[in-house]
Amino acid sequence: MTSVPDTLTALAARLQGTLSTDPDVVASCSTDESVHPGTGDALAVVRAGCVEDVALTVRFAHHHGIPVVPQGARSGLSGGACAESGCILLSVASMNRVLDIDEANMTVTVEPGVINKDLKDTLRPHGLAYPPDPGSVAISSIGGNIATNAGGMCCVKYGVTRRYVRELTVVLADGTVTRLGQRTVKGVAGLDLVSLFTGSEGTLGIIVEATLTVIPLGPDPLTALATFPTVGSAVEAVAAYMSTGASPSMLEMMDGMTIGLLSGVGDFGLDADVGAVLIMQSDSATAETDTRAFAAVAEDHGAVDVAFADNPTDSELLVAARRSVQIANERYAASHGGGQMIDDVCVPRSRLADFCAGVEAIRDDTGTTVALVAHAGDGNVHPSVFYDLADEDSVAAGTEAFDRIMRLGLELGGTITGEHGVGALKSAWLPRELDEANRRLHRRIKDAVDPTAVLNPGKMLEAL
Ligand SMILES: Cc1cc2nc3c(=O)[nH]c(=O)nc-3n(C[C@H](O)[C@H](O)[C@H](O)COP(=O)(O)OP(=O)(O)OC[C@H]3O[C@@H](n4cnc5c(N)ncnc54)[C@H](O)[C@@H]3O)c2cc1C
Repeated sequence: MTSVPDTLTALAARLQGTLSTDPDVVASCSTDESVHPGTGDALAVVRAGCVEDVALTVRFAHHHGIPVVPQGARSGLSGGACAESGCILLSVASMNRVLDIDEANMTVTVEPGVINKDLKDTLRPHGLAYPPDPGSVAISSIGGNIATNAGGMCCVKYGVTRRYVRELTVVLADGTVTRLGQRTVKGVAGLDLVSLFTGSEGTLGIIVEATLTVIPLGPDPLTALATFPTVGSAVEAVAAYMSTGASPSMLEMMDGMTIGLLSGVGDFGLDADVGAVLIMQSDSATAETDTRAFAAVAEDHGAVDVAFADNPTDSELLVAARRSVQIANERYAASHGGGQMIDDVCVPRSRLADFCAGVEAIRDDTGTTVALVAHAGDGNVHPSVFYDLADEDSVAAGTEAFDRIMRLGLELGGTITGEHGVGALKSAWLPRELDEANRRLHRRIKDAVDPTAVLNPGKMLEAL
């Protein structure tokens, strides 16, 4: 009788990519950027070199009943790419070619492992842009962005990843390869399976190719930075500004604690004594008027100062500060017991002030440290909860704060996750957001598409 390790060797021999069962290699590939440790040791890591590698591996796993955890660049913040006990970690990171830039039809076709920023850099000389820009733009893959329906800073104007996905090639749970969607601008033939697979977090199939909409490269944006005495006044300014019908290309908020932590990463020219800052950008033809209109609303809501960056270098410095928040938080966590969990609640913009006040109350009530950063124009807030991993009480308080923040988001008519995904970290919370009929629908879809539940078990759909 052949054992699984023997058949793994046979699988390895058929791959263009590589398969490793070396425990050190496997362990080094078993986590993402979340705190989730995974639920056990993986059997092997496959680094697929081509579509056929993915199909062979999934077919093999399906045949042997082995779980498959799809992986892109493992920058996820919800544990979606973490190992499950006895699984194959299937990485498509090496499938990273830009296959076709179709200027006539304004599309680009890519393999899933292309890093988002590399795609942007490849498109720029053609005068084209791919808008979705998660904070992880330099370290996350297009396949992972699609699988999580990633958001980011410019989504307030340009929308999230799903808006740009036209056609996907996916490997289904039994290893079958199929194409979903249409390359054309319009297309309503059949159900919208592209939307179903976008944001499915590796639970329905593995994305091996994508055709995406691109847009003309716009002008450099103008930036305004408003400082506020409190988070409350800043988020009230956001709701008021957005209700004027404004269309900024970025509207981000950082609280005073976050600004303090950023000083541990570098000098971004931010005043450490403020309660909160808003960074607003406009890339439209009326950018100058837009930034002035924003400044007026900010001042009406208690801004103590509004500064303007009218050249790309200064603008980039402010955006660099925002992009460095996660590094700053990680450094703080590392020197304060190591624990950090990042919530991702999205609430209606009109409830932002209630949400932020509620988070401050949860922080005080649980005695935890919480830093706030937000894609404020979207109502999407990332409270980072810090705790000491070596102290049971601190871990319990951190977990309680993390959970209560999600409950607060739901009470305010929001969602537990605006962009990071459910993954393993929030899977117990998904049933609280979906009603019973919706949960049943999810289960039926999963059963129909992946009847033996080999694709990313223990993650998004686990608790439904
Ligand atoms: C500093 C930092 C900033 C971030 N900022 C943002 C932000 O602004 N907005 C945002 O949305 N996210 C953000 N993230 C989270 C993360 O980068 C995104 O979720 C990203 O889309 C994950 O891409 P990835 O390639 O790293 O995917 P991974 O982490 O490898 O995987 C994420 C999920 O997608 C699945 N998956 C990956 N590739 C495929 C594939 N080819 N087919 C099927 N399933 C697949 C995995 O199984 C997993 O469930 C940030 C992360 C960091 C570390």
